[in-house]
Amino acid sequence: METDSMECESSTRSVQNDEIHHNGTYHFSSTKNHGGAAAAVVTNIVGPTATAPATSVYELLECPVCTYSMYPPIHQCHNGHTLCSTCKVRVHNRCPTCRQELGDIRCLALEKVAESLELPCKYYNLGCPEIFPYYSKLKHESLCNFRPYSCPYAGSECGIVGDIPFLVAHLRDDHKVDMHAGSTFNHRYVKSNPREVENATWMLTVFHCFGQYFCLHFEAFQLGMGPVYMAFLRFMGDEEEARSYSYSLEVGGSGRKLTWEGTPRSIRDSHRKVRDSNDGLIIQRNMALFFSGGDRKELKLRVTGKIWKEQHSPDSGLCIPNLSS
Ligand SMILES: [Zn+2]
Ligand SMILES: [Zn+2]
Ligand SMILES: [Zn+2]
Ligand SMILES: [Zn+2]
Repeated sequence: METDSMECESSTRSVQNDEIHHNGTYHFSSTKNHGGAAAAVVTNIVGPTATAPATSVYELLECPVCTYSMYPPIHQCHNGHTLCSTCKVRVHNRCPTCRQELGDIRCLALEKVAESLELPCKYYNLGCPEIFPYYSKLKHESLCNFRPYSCPYAGSECGIVGDIPFLVAHLRDDHKVDMHAGSTFNHRYVKSNPREVENATWMLTVFHCFGQYFCLHFEAFQLGMGPVYMAFLRFMGDEEEARSYSYSLEVGGSGRKLTWEGTPRSIRDSHRKVRDSNDGLIIQRNMALFFSGGDRKELKLRVTGKIWKEQHSPDSGLCIPNLSS
């Protein structure tokens, strides 16, 4: 088990400002806004306690079971008790208020009211100030800049969501991810059995520079017929902001080297999406073994790189290429 996992050794040699902390107790000294815990739970804000326009109409639209706002289709029992469509499927055809059989009656009048109301974005408590009619609200929420981010860790299915400070703490504490301060890095990836290239080999390191966080991914996977290694950077933030940064990666040995220069992708783009678009430094296994030197029994790759801030956002970044097509 141990020999299968990719090890990462970091070195500060010839690299400035790259503080390496292996014991996991390092804490970034930058200012964190502590909205993290709250960000993991997004509550519906329309209700009696909301600061949104609080009229009785909003209270009428509150589902008695889940207390979220009801939207079409809205159901009612023979006695007129209303219920949202999500809860309807869970109550086994019994009205939760009067216990009578629920049937299949829509409440069209209330549906019309619901459609006519303007409601705040559901990420209101995460800072979104926008207010929308219902259907455009749904559309907005799927793209809202304040919506929580998914955990960027690639090695397992992780359902954690939250804002960036929350996810940084989560990566450090729960995934034991290495945290580095500084915009340059010098990493050594070592694997004792490079013959085994499975999709299950990932490395993630988080960098903190320019007041932002970046995820450096390194992994082995099968590309076409051959196994490859790939390194790429993701920005912990939205795509628009990601475009104001660039990064370079370099790997080499025995007088040869490969370099990559690119724009970090937002963690809004899944790790897999970035990988499958080949948007990073790709090293064929033969080349990787050549760079490793020695008897080709062990993979030893030294990846150096740096992150910098662009003066102007590059226009070319507006369209993210799919380099594999
Ligand atoms: Zn409900
Ligand atoms: Zn009822
Ligand atoms: Zn919003
Ligand atoms: Zn996670």
